[in-house]
Amino acid sequence: MKLICIGRNYTEHIAELENEKPEEPVVFIKPDTSILLKKQPFFIPDFSNDIHHEIEILVKIKKVGKHIDQKFAHKYYDEIGLGIDFTARDLQSKLKAKGLPWEKAKSFDGSAVIGDWIGKEHFAAVNDIDFCLEKNGAIVQKGNTKLMLWKIDELIEYVSKYFTLKIGDVIFTGTPAGVGPVKTDDILTGFIDKQQLFSIRIK
Ligand code: ZN
Repeated sequence: MKLICIGRNYTEHIAELENEKPEEPVVFIKPDTSILLKKQPFFIPDFSNDIHHEIEILVKIKKVGKHIDQKFAHKYYDEIGLGIDFTARDLQSKLKAKGLPWEKAKSFDGSAVIGDWIGKEHFAAVNDIDFCLEKNGAIVQKGNTKLMLWKIDELIEYVSKYFTLKIGDVIFTGTPAGVGPVKTDDILTGFIDKQQLFSIRIK
């Protein structure tokens, strides 16, 4: 399985990284080896001194599809989740400056946190889901899916033009404002509404 990740999908986050608003979604892939195993801490890798948390709403694909029209996209997922796209920001900045791919900064082992899943029937609307990330008990990132530049069904249409979606693939839908560094002994806890979906210790 693969993790398909969207960058720059919330305007405020684009502003904080001084990126331009894209005409199309930014897309990159994390391999399955990037998934942080359940109940395991996140170990800061030795190639970075500036690991950032990015809280993101996740969508789990339940049906194989390619060239999916956004009108039918809702048939391809039943579960919504929450995760972290850990990013080695120092390394990413170097790669960006040279116009190189981001994989080393984004797709390393342990860089993808996937929390518990919630059936989409539990939401009144998938385009109105509140979520947040707490660091050591204080909220550091807050978002709502209605603030996405490209909504879930539009993202499915877009990414399935390029990549066949397979059962179990996960889409990371991009992060809202408030990304920031983590350090040893931080605890990151993710919530959709009031429901806790993961808790990660940084080592
Ligand atoms: Zn991200």
